[in-house]
Amino acid sequence: MKRFRSFAQIQKSLNEKNASCLDVVNYYLAQINQRKHLNAFLEVFDQEAKDRAVQIDQKIQAGKAGRLAGMVVGLKDVFCYQGHKLQAASKILEDFESQFTATCVQRLLDEDAIIIGRLNCDEFAMGSSNENSAFGPVLNAENENRVPGGSSGGSAVAVQANLCTVALGSDTGGSIRQPAAFCGVIGIKPTYSRVSRYGLLAYASSFDTIGVFSNTIEDNALALEIMAGKDDFDSTVSSRPVPEYHKKLGFEGKAKIAYLKETLESEGLNDEVRQNFIDTIDRLKEEGHEVEAVDFPLLKYALPTYYILITAESSSNLSRYDGVRYGYRSPNTLNMESMYKKSRSEGFGEEVQRRIMLGTFVLSASYYDAFYTKAQKVRRLIKNKVQDLLETHGFLVMPTTPTTAFELGSHTQNPLEMYLADLFTVQASVAGVPSISIPNGKDSDGMPFGLQIMANFFEEEKLYAFSNTMLK
Ligand code: GLN
Repeated sequence: MKRFRSFAQIQKSLNEKNASCLDVVNYYLAQINQRKHLNAFLEVFDQEAKDRAVQIDQKIQAGKAGRLAGMVVGLKDVFCYQGHKLQAASKILEDFESQFTATCVQRLLDEDAIIIGRLNCDEFAMGSSNENSAFGPVLNAENENRVPGGSSGGSAVAVQANLCTVALGSDTGGSIRQPAAFCGVIGIKPTYSRVSRYGLLAYASSFDTIGVFSNTIEDNALALEIMAGKDDFDSTVSSRPVPEYHKKLGFEGKAKIAYLKETLESEGLNDEVRQNFIDTIDRLKEEGHEVEAVDFPLLKYALPTYYILITAESSSNLSRYDGVRYGYRSPNTLNMESMYKKSRSEGFGEEVQRRIMLGTFVLSASYYDAFYTKAQKVRRLIKNKVQDLLETHGFLVMPTTPTTAFELGSHTQNPLEMYLADLFTVQASVAGVPSISIPNGKDSDGMPFGLQIMANFFEEEKLYAFSNTMLK
């Protein structure tokens, strides 16, 4: 059977009539079946995907197919898709079914993409290793003793192991970029507000961003340009026009690139990752780009700022799961209060409960100013500095993660150690700027390195074009 690793390959086969959409779907279903043990999928919509493929094949014949005909997409388990289950990999949403479809998913469907299933993730997208899922961890296809990263671990592995063409993820503090780095695939977190969040289960609303995993920049750019843009259902989404990213992938000229001195000095930065990054800086210089080390003393505040604000926002967002309106309700309760308490204690996993408690603490009357207000102020400072930096320098580069994919179980006992996996990804989330992770070689154990590249607000076009030249 033909192997498909990109949408360009699929389109070529469809055009040359070497394959039909049904063949493509059957290829992915066979792959999914063969690699079930990776635990990437929570549910596969097999019959439905086949039926849809047949319909799209007919549309192709009639010359009426959309731009994504033949693209097979996996959804992280945080996107509403009408008539389909949705759980955020949590017990608390047991048997919940979406009443409507997320805007980003609908736009892909409107262009004839085929949705193949729901992908595993950390519960409510909280985590950095996919080990917080109520359905067990996902395994990294490069080495099955290693984590795939999180929270969108299933999405990263689905693309890494060729279980779909592209996968959707959500990135609040690194959940697309970090697993993309750990799995050796491409993952973008666009500018905050570039893609409508309508139909995305909320985690921390002022950070939540929808993005794409893929094996090629072109696929990534195409999927994003179709999902992005104005939406009447999300008043926070930007109405700026969306460029045709995938048609503008040639980067001309030399770039002015910054890296932060503080990244290289970070405690916890693995030696091989540091060396890989130094080699990358040398390579960029050899290619004629101007690369400059800059000071960013605020870097060390990005992680605490992030964890104060996201716990606050998530404690509020997750209050809606109360045993009454959605999903799980504890069977052994005596009165209303115990129903709320038991449903939430039994329905939510440990990490989610920890964050809700931290969040209510930082929002409590006596600590609000000391934590929440202060963190908001620091967020503004970081945002301004990042924006200034990206006005003088076209790009900011850094390793996506301080280490490559770690062993399963190695960080589960120590939440702080786990939070450190987000050391380099939270900065772009706190600021809101777009950021991409691209594969950048492998360490001595064969595990992928990721290179993170940031650009200023709404400069996805430039980010894609530059990343494309880096991968050549
Ligand atoms: N690992 C980070 C966290 O647990 C990021 C998660 C995300 O981006 N959804 O918050």
